[in-house]
Amino acid sequence: MITRRTFTAGLGAGALAGMPGALQASEYRGPNVVLVRFGGGVRRFETIDEAGTYAPYLRNHLAKRGVLIPDVRIEQLDGVDTSHAEGTLNILTGRYLGYRDVASRFQIDRLEPTEPTLFEYLREAFDIPAHQVLLINGEDRPQEEFFTFGMNPHYGITYRSEMLSLHRFKLHKYARQLEEGGLTDEARDAIVEAQSELLAADHREFAPEQSPAVQGFWDGWRRDYGDDGFRNARGDRLLTALATRALAELRPRLMMVNYQDPDYVHWGNPSHYTRAISIIDEGLERLVAAADADPFYRGNTVFVITPDCGRDANPLMDVPFQHHFNSRAAHETWALISGPGIVTDRVFDRVVDQSAIAPTVAAIMGFRAHRSENRAIDAVFA
Ligand SMILES: [Zn+2]
Repeated sequence: MITRRTFTAGLGAGALAGMPGALQASEYRGPNVVLVRFGGGVRRFETIDEAGTYAPYLRNHLAKRGVLIPDVRIEQLDGVDTSHAEGTLNILTGRYLGYRDVASRFQIDRLEPTEPTLFEYLREAFDIPAHQVLLINGEDRPQEEFFTFGMNPHYGITYRSEMLSLHRFKLHKYARQLEEGGLTDEARDAIVEAQSELLAADHREFAPEQSPAVQGFWDGWRRDYGDDGFRNARGDRLLTALATRALAELRPRLMMVNYQDPDYVHWGNPSHYTRAISIIDEGLERLVAAADADPFYRGNTVFVITPDCGRDANPLMDVPFQHHFNSRAAHETWALISGPGIVTDRVFDRVVDQSAIAPTVAAIMGFRAHRSENRAIDAVFA
């Protein structure tokens, strides 16, 4: 039996009131930022190379609206693994190794941020509710369900983001089904069991409940897609569906979309990888179109698109496209930044370190990621 202490939003804020910054938070006036992890590890050739790209919208259209940085690198440091959770936390904290591995403690595959994330910096600086700082997550990466706040004592749960994922939807659905009642004993037992399985994945001492706004979001999702899970999109198309719906209904100021499906290439089929890149590219086109069509986001939203890590470029390997062997290509990524205040139709030809992404997002939004190891990329600002 797992004992859990649930930390509601109200209690969390009350208990931690008086923390530095808590009283100075001011109204946020934009711009909004959509941070897209072009994830699952991608090589430059299939994404930003004009000849090789499977992301024509990104390379041929969106790049003209902003600045393309073709040479972002993950530093070669001891202990840095070029992988998905690691790269994502480098992007979110502006540091390397700003996390600890809790796997040995819980026998699971999981990293926990030990440094403040962009979500926490933003909510510490501005008066923005948790549901307007969103992380959109895929369904088969439960180890990334816990990036919404770090363990840094000055930040943490008070300034967390909300998360939208099928994991969160199922937690909501089971709670609602139990509330609604009218179940046979058998059905009830099955729901309770499925619910405890999901809850058991979260080993944190304090598990924030989903805020009322997010619960309302899931109620609407459930009305549209039902309880069976067969009617909603899957994979990275689901992330696009969640993200576009969130823009319309929750009005996030900062939203990170953690695409991931190019990673299916670990199973060895390159067409899964290139098709997944195209699906992310379609998602990007839909996200940008949604922002362009909405007066709340139009002309007031910056897109920051960057991979978590690269992939091996060695065609002689038995299984190409891997990323755990510390090859040069696994350290090579890129970034595309576009929106108000950002230079347009330019390629920035200098080397940029992955740890510069977080301070750049911070500069766009008007706060400082002061624990970052790096500085904002000044050249992107018009
Ligand atoms: Zn992988």
